[in-house]
Amino acid sequence: MTLAAVLARIDADLPQALDRLIDLLRIPSISTDPAYGADCARAADWLVAELAALGFQARAAATPGHPMVIGHHRGPGRHILFYGHYDVQPVDPLELWHRDPFDAEVQDTPGGRVIRARGASDDKGQLMTFLEACRAWKAVHGALPGNLTIFLEGEEESGSPSLIPFLNENRDELSADLALICDTGLHGDTPAITTLLRGLTKCELTLRAADRDLHSGMYGGLARNPIHLLARILGQLHDDQGRVTLPGFYDRVDELPDALRQQWQALAFDHAAYLAGVGLSVPAGEQDRTPLERLWSRPTAEVNGIWGGYTGAGFKTVLPSQAHAKISFRLVSRQDPDDIAARFRAWFEGQLPADCTVEWHGGNEGSPASVMAITDPAFEATRQALTEEWGRPAAYVGSGGSIPIAGYFKEVLGMDALLVGFAKDDDNIHSPNEKYDVASFHKGIRSWARILDRIA
Ligand SMILES: [Zn+2]
Repeated sequence: MTLAAVLARIDADLPQALDRLIDLLRIPSISTDPAYGADCARAADWLVAELAALGFQARAAATPGHPMVIGHHRGPGRHILFYGHYDVQPVDPLELWHRDPFDAEVQDTPGGRVIRARGASDDKGQLMTFLEACRAWKAVHGALPGNLTIFLEGEEESGSPSLIPFLNENRDELSADLALICDTGLHGDTPAITTLLRGLTKCELTLRAADRDLHSGMYGGLARNPIHLLARILGQLHDDQGRVTLPGFYDRVDELPDALRQQWQALAFDHAAYLAGVGLSVPAGEQDRTPLERLWSRPTAEVNGIWGGYTGAGFKTVLPSQAHAKISFRLVSRQDPDDIAARFRAWFEGQLPADCTVEWHGGNEGSPASVMAITDPAFEATRQALTEEWGRPAAYVGSGGSIPIAGYFKEVLGMDALLVGFAKDDDNIHSPNEKYDVASFHKGIRSWARILDRIA
């Protein structure tokens, strides 16, 4: 009964909730540009005032960069931390916007009503879905739900330089039983919880043969060409079925659980259209895996750059002394970034003739994959809540890239994250004319009310 009352309250309060979001969107909190430092502080203060009005113990915590906004409500139950970010991307090229990016307004479009402004979808509209759910909850129950911490960052769009030091320094305050992160999207029209995020490791090399560049007329046929050697070795990194040939590469790769496989099949991912969108038609990669597996739950090896010799205008019959490459690996399951990089280096060096050497550049800034523990009952409870709100089965999905905050919460604070968001593929995040559907906002608020009702 009370959930119904909270949902009704959300419906009735939607116009005011939109006004509040528009207020926040009018603050140009571009974190990467020092000219907007005061605006970032203003957005943080605006959120602190909102949280305080809702009954949170709220403050803006200074960092060497932009402030973190923190709010606490101590109550019974599991400690849940909600994360969003109040900073936004720059707006240029400004001439491609149809109106001032910070003069937010609700517009009627052929696709429905939208909120148009920089940050509408990434991430102010999304973070406000949670605050508005808390507001309606309090209006009906007289108190905030459960044991909640709100944690809002102001540097997500500029590489989060203060985040890891801040998490370390405030570990006790921010360590919760579970994190909720609202910075992802729907899968098409299907509500989604992102539970798999691929990791990454990188290698950069210089391969050396002769001690100077040579004339191909004088040395060609006798001296080693390092570009040929590099191309031959890297050409063997995949077999003809698209599998990575590095010994031990798949040792710590887990098979997708059947339940997830079934959910992904139901998503009916149109890989042909996805490839057609970038001018391709033939799926590459592991031929015995479904397209979604290849994107979300299988590791990859990619040559990101390869160069050497003479590439300028005209022609030079050089037999180069060096060749260079950058190679990266997307990681899944329990693959270890350092281990994979070491395996690649050993495999590469094992194929060099005695008179060739390789020099490796750069440190190891790899990150492992994030695999959320969906055995935590909060995941299934959230999936059911989303299914009820959106009227179609919600799915656990993967992400081919990483969402750094989820990895940091796991590494630094040891907590899993429930990644739930309501953005759509056509929201133009980071691009001109960013928007957030009013339906995303409204049903997003209702979704959090249903989720809190089940897990808080
Ligand atoms: Zn974001």
